[in-house]
Amino acid sequence: MNTSVNTESLRALDQAHHLHPFTDFHDYANNGGRIFNRAEGVFIYDSDNNAMLDGMSGLWCCNLGYSQDRIKEAVFEQMKELPYYNNFFRCANQPSVELAAALAEVAPEGFEHVFFTNSGSEANDTNIKLVHRYFDLLGKPEKKLIISRKNAYHGSTLAAASLGGMKAMHEQAIGLNYVHHINQPHWFEVSEPGEDETSFGIRVARELEAKIDELGEHRVAAFIAEPVQGAGGVIIPPDSYWPELQRICDERDILLIADEVICGFGRTGEWWGSQTYGMKPHLMTFAKAVTNGYMPLGGVLISDTVAEVLTAGGGEFAHGLTYSGHPASCAAGLATLEILHQEKVIERAAEHLAPYFQDKLQTFAEHPIVGQIRGRGSFAAVELVRDKETRERLAPESGAAVFCRDTANNHGLMVRQTGDAMIMAPPLICEHEHIDLLIEKLGVALDATAAHHGVA
Ligand SMILES: *Cc1c(COP(=O)(O)O)cnc(C)c1O
Repeated sequence: MNTSVNTESLRALDQAHHLHPFTDFHDYANNGGRIFNRAEGVFIYDSDNNAMLDGMSGLWCCNLGYSQDRIKEAVFEQMKELPYYNNFFRCANQPSVELAAALAEVAPEGFEHVFFTNSGSEANDTNIKLVHRYFDLLGKPEKKLIISRKNAYHGSTLAAASLGGMKAMHEQAIGLNYVHHINQPHWFEVSEPGEDETSFGIRVARELEAKIDELGEHRVAAFIAEPVQGAGGVIIPPDSYWPELQRICDERDILLIADEVICGFGRTGEWWGSQTYGMKPHLMTFAKAVTNGYMPLGGVLISDTVAEVLTAGGGEFAHGLTYSGHPASCAAGLATLEILHQEKVIERAAEHLAPYFQDKLQTFAEHPIVGQIRGRGSFAAVELVRDKETRERLAPESGAAVFCRDTANNHGLMVRQTGDAMIMAPPLICEHEHIDLLIEKLGVALDATAAHHGVA
């Protein structure tokens, strides 16, 4: 343990020199943040040595927690052997080759190829270029439009933010003019009064059909979606939603891109969210949990349908990153996959963690400020309201959820807030006792939030 850390001076340096992502710079310069400098198992420790249960797996990536020595050692060993070499110009390195093969092994049937990036955002940028290239090679160069969804999150590079449907991000950067958005399957937020979840799911799915007709099928190249929207607020789609979307994709000449950056590697209970929801994508984006968050790595898994066209000839694919297939990142990915296989983490989480977690969350079903509890596999959201019937919000501008999150944080639980929802994605290696602790601390935060906003 590093006891020599001087929190006060570190915080001063941080506020003076460091601009943080997705942060109000003015607010941060005045108030600063919490500095973390160590972690163990599923707990993170701040510079004053306060322990917090990590209910978010870092940023949805440390699914195996923080103490996986095998991954750390694999990275160090690789650094000693070959710390860097690129994959351009007819070159390759062993870990990137082996990881590509290992990912093809765990991918759904019909996926044999991988393109590596350093992040999910870059992988989605890559998707756009792959899709455009695919239709160019097929002699359909007019197919360039991409359809996505409001409140989707596909990353924060310019192209990925365009694909995403985050209002605040669109307001600060001019998006790509060939990306169009339809509604999200967020029943609690978007449904009409009296509309049940099944008919709502079908209605919003059919917006894709209407959008394709409006834009012209001969111009639409792809539809991109997260099986479950993560950053948007763990939006669990109605069961009727994905089968209807799949029908539309099957009938139309468009590609389906599944952004599996959060859902992939076990979050929904199977290896891929696409499997949980019966989706048949042509491209799958991955990142985050592929290295358990220890090293930056992302990429695209490419189905044989697309790969056959791309590899049939037609010249160079003009795209790549200096660190595409970085050997140390790929070594971390290989070690992560080994742990997932050998310790049956995904199967165990589906059987042992997910049902317990979802069941325990129902403790709050009758809580006066809880409007909806939604979850699947090992993630969930709790929607805060003032009135359960009318879904009236507890405070304007998501103030109540921010208060609830801060209270939880101050009581040793790391959870996030999105809009008026509290969101959770605990590490897949959590034991029941960790879930009990999460529920206890979330309960304290919910009670305090109700009291603070005058709800008994
Ligand atoms: C986090 C995320 C991304 C972006 O990944 P980065 O590595 O942050 O660029 C893309 N898609 C989804 C679904 C994500 O959750």
